Amino acid sequence: MRLNIGIDGPVGAGKSTVADAVAARLGILHLDTGAMYRGLGLTALRRGIDVQDEQAIIDLCNSLKFTVSHEADGQHTFVDGEDLTGLIRTQEVGMAASTVSRYAEVRKAMVRLQQQLAAETDMLLDGRDICTTVLPNATAKIYLTASAEERARRRWLELQKKGSDEPFEQVLEEVKARDDQDMNRPVEPLRQAEDAVLVDSTNLNFEQVVDAILAIVEEKRHG
Ligand code: C5P
Repeated sequence: MRLNIGIDGPVGAGKSTVADAVAARLGILHLDTGAMYRGLGLTALRRGIDVQDEQAIIDLCNSLKFTVSHEADGQHTFVDGEDLTGLIRTQEVGMAASTVSRYAEVRKAMVRLQQQLAAETDMLLDGRDICTTVLPNATAKIYLTASAEERARRRWLELQKKGSDEPFEQVLEEVKARDDQDMNRPVEPLRQAEDAVLVDSTNLNFEQVVDAILAIVEEKRHG
């Protein structure tokens, strides 16, 4: 049977790095689905297309080809053959991704693509709607979260390391704004799937989170 694992959760819960580690320990690929929405958001920004203009974004999305490859340094995300991996991690692109991901037609296209990729090989997917929509029959479903303050604190520390002097309060505001946008959109809002297992990482370190998720996967696989 195909091994498909879904991890959903809000911004800053550490999904991407945790998902990378869990997938590596299981010897399967990790698909970062947020990177695809970010690729669309960045392309809109670059072309001067208003992310609030739903029809223009749908037309843009339908005109683009999204592909990924898995390299030694992780996932590379391509739009029309251009590798955008190094350009999509900014706050601005994150907000644009969050806006374009509100549109039902955009989500349909992305979900279809993600389902095709997951059907081809054993894979762990992380995102916002993996357990609820993309992989309803996933082997294991995890909802990874932490308090907004803790998620903002981690993000703030990361930014400081990069030399940014953005105040903590501002980072916290951004985390809350994105939560609000992701959890209150009319189409596929972020929520914990009924059959997903909650992992709250507020008081756990990285290794503890990875171990907790691996234990859930083992339990679901071998009962
Ligand atoms: O996970 P990441 O922060 O890279 O995702 C960027 C944005 O893309 C999220 O804020 C969310 O709005 C959207 N997204 C989504 N569904 C997914 C993955 C990401 O709506 N499966």
